[in-house]
Amino acid sequence: MEAALLPEGWTEDVLVRVADTGFITAVQADGGPVAAAAERVRGIVVPGMANAHSHAFQRAMAGATEYRLSARDSFWTWRQAMYALANRIEPAALTAIATQLFIEMLKAGYTSVAEFHYVHRRLDGAAYADDNALWDAVTEAAANTGIGLTFLPTLYQTSDFGGRPLRRDQVRFELRTDEFVRAVAARVQSERRADSGRTRTGAAFHSLRAVSLRTLRETSLQLREVDASMPVHIHVAEQLREVEACREDTGRRPIELLLESGLLTPHWCLIHATHATPGELVGIAGHGATVCVSITTEANLGDGLFATHRYLRAGGHLCIGSDSQATVSPAEELRWLEYQQRLKRKRRAVLATRHDSHVGTRLWRDAAVHGAQALGQAVGTIAVGRRADWLVLDREHPSMAGCAIDTALDHLVFAGASAAIRDVMVAGRWVVQDYRHGAEETAAARFRATMRELTIPV
Ligand SMILES: [Zn+2]
Repeated sequence: MEAALLPEGWTEDVLVRVADTGFITAVQADGGPVAAAAERVRGIVVPGMANAHSHAFQRAMAGATEYRLSARDSFWTWRQAMYALANRIEPAALTAIATQLFIEMLKAGYTSVAEFHYVHRRLDGAAYADDNALWDAVTEAAANTGIGLTFLPTLYQTSDFGGRPLRRDQVRFELRTDEFVRAVAARVQSERRADSGRTRTGAAFHSLRAVSLRTLRETSLQLREVDASMPVHIHVAEQLREVEACREDTGRRPIELLLESGLLTPHWCLIHATHATPGELVGIAGHGATVCVSITTEANLGDGLFATHRYLRAGGHLCIGSDSQATVSPAEELRWLEYQQRLKRKRRAVLATRHDSHVGTRLWRDAAVHGAQALGQAVGTIAVGRRADWLVLDREHPSMAGCAIDTALDHLVFAGASAAIRDVMVAGRWVVQDYRHGAEETAAARFRATMRELTIPV
């Protein structure tokens, strides 16, 4: 490699050996003798980004809800449109949507994704026979595109705090606890047999609105028996109304409840945590759990602002996600983490530190490492034992003009979004070369046909 971002910093002339399994077996930082068969990578190589939060089917409504319905448009009115879509999606449509989306992710720099998946049942509310066809649809899309996948089947049992029953438009989300644990365990077992190195099954609780604390506790302990290091995700404190309802029902705020539950470990990822108190942020950081901020979705839905600067100063582990797919761009997520703080504090380079003076490098490197933690996959850095997932930045691209090696990620994040990502490797295999994914034309055609069949609800 001409130059690469290694854990120890920017390095020129790097030799990396990748085994047939797709994992890195050697990294040599001083050039040295190179075998004749070695491939010379032109450009600047950086770790691929983990997308720690995605609902693939929502790609079908990106751009379709950006107008006024009433003076009270909010997250909750958007959710109605999203439910209408969720109640139209069949497995073949989900494969088409997710395939298109995963190609967009790869080209934008996400080399793996955590799919938080809560649509489980047929349109009529019956269970799928044998394997869950909707779960398989997502897995098939990941295989079609070459992206790394952490699949998170999601438990969703109630419509609100206090054990309220699901609404009619939520029946596709329901699973009993025993069938949930059994299905997750079956996937984990078959993955262990297959050992693809690119896919992993974790689990998610939709939120404390959707799962009682008691069920969450019992289920977490059962899942720990299945896989002690299983990634576990949960939406929490995204909306003020949710925080208030939790307090009315339990006397506690949602993050307080999670902290008191004693369940949080570094395998847990809290999605949003938008309305966390300073004490809660310190508590999350102290447990070594990750927080996933999806700022473009949070902005799109009018959720509120996460206290990024405070959380990072507390030593918090932060990752990013494309969530509702309003935008699919790690560069944009990271840029807005910083811009939000600049606007608030009327300063520049807020999320840089004395030791990490380049904002783009700091944010990209840390989000890749903590995203890997959230996905429970050995990715996020270019180092021995990690999967060979990386991006090659094109030094000839206009957005990179004038950049030195150590400003490459500043250019990517602030000046060019994903425009300079020329090649993308996942598990030692090029999936994007010269700005093109091999399946992009067929995937786009199938996606357009699917979108014509789905009348997008508003
Ligand atoms: Zn979400």
